[in-house]
Amino acid sequence: MEPRIPREMRAVVYRGPNDLRLEQVPVPRIGRNEILVRVATCGVCPTDIKKIQTGSVPPPRILGHETAGTVVRVGSGVTGIRIADRVALHHHVPCGTCHFCVHGDFAQCATYLRTGVTAGFEPAGGGYAEYVKVLPFCLPGVVRIPSRNTFEEGALLEPVNTVLKAVRRLGLHHGDSVVVVGQGPIGLLFNRILALHGQQVFGTDLVGRRRLLGRTWGAAATWDGGDPGLAERIRRRTRGRGADAVVLTVPQEGAFHSAFDLVRRGGRILLFAHTLRGHRTPTDLSTLCVDEKTVLGSYSSDFSLQREVARRVFSRRLDVRPLVTHRFPLERTSEAIALAASASPESLKILVEAQP
Ligand SMILES: [Zn+2]
Ligand SMILES: [Zn+2]
Repeated sequence: MEPRIPREMRAVVYRGPNDLRLEQVPVPRIGRNEILVRVATCGVCPTDIKKIQTGSVPPPRILGHETAGTVVRVGSGVTGIRIADRVALHHHVPCGTCHFCVHGDFAQCATYLRTGVTAGFEPAGGGYAEYVKVLPFCLPGVVRIPSRNTFEEGALLEPVNTVLKAVRRLGLHHGDSVVVVGQGPIGLLFNRILALHGQQVFGTDLVGRRRLLGRTWGAAATWDGGDPGLAERIRRRTRGRGADAVVLTVPQEGAFHSAFDLVRRGGRILLFAHTLRGHRTPTDLSTLCVDEKTVLGSYSSDFSLQREVARRVFSRRLDVRPLVTHRFPLERTSEAIALAASASPESLKILVEAQP
C-alpha cells in the first residue's frame, strides 16, 4: 500500500553564507524513472560545512548528502526498488562509459559531477529535509540496508567509500607504515581501514582526547601534530626511512609541509581535505623529482567500491556505529553544523534526523 505523503515538508534551506533556515517547501514530485525517499538520517559532512560557511555555491539549496531512509514512492519505470525498502543513497553516480570512467576516474565524469538526489531547488543532496527524490542517473547508487542494520550505518556508506577509495590510491604493501594526520571521524576511518589491511598506522592530532581515540581505532601510536620531534619519532619506528605514506585529513598548510619530513623517499602524500579552489603553497620541487615523493589527491567516492563498502559496513567487520556521537533534529541543523565545524574533543560523526 502506498504510504500517505503530504504536499509540503520541512527542509533546512541554505539561503546564503551561514544562513540556514527551516522552511516549508513542496515535497518533490517524482517522474517515471525516479523514487521518493522519506529521510531517516543524514550525516553532516565537512564539504557541506565549507559550502555553508564560505558561500562557495549559490543559494538557495538544500544540502546534506549522506542520506538514508525509506522508499515511499516508486516511479512506474523503476525496477528493483520497492516501497518500504530501507535504503542508503549516493548523490553522485558516474556514467560508466565515458573516457574518465573507463580510466576509473569516476569523480571526474561529467555525469558524476551532477548531483542526483534533491529535496528541491538546484539538486544539492537534500538530506536536511523530510523527503528527497532520487533522479534516474543516481538509481544505481541506491543500496538496500539489511534489516539487522541501522539507517545510521547506511548513511555512513558514502564517507566510508571515500576513505576506502583513498586507501586504494595509495597502493600500499602489507605492513607499510602510514601517518594519518587528523583523528576526526574521517581520520579514525582511515586508521581502522588501514589497520584491517595490515598497515602500521600512526595518528596525529592536536586534541588529546582524539589521540586516545585514534589508538582505539587502530593506530599503533598517536602524537601531537605540533610535536617538533614528530619526524624523528616516525623515523625511529620505520628503520630510519620515514612513513610509506602520509594522509592529510585536514587542510592545514603546516601539515602539508611537515608531511614531506614524515614521508620516506619515494613515499606518497595524499590530500583528502584540500577541497577549496585557489589554495596555493610553495613547495621544493626537488622533493618530487629527486626524492621521488608523490603528492596525490582523492576526492569523493568510487562507484566500483559500492558493494565492497556495503559488505564491510553491514557485516560490521568495519563497525561504524561507535563513530556517531551526536544526533540533532532537523530544526537544529545549524547547531549540528556548528558542532561539526568546531571539532570539539567529544564530537565525532554528527547526524541530522528528519523524523522525530
Ligand atoms: Zn560527504
Ligand atoms: Zn563517465
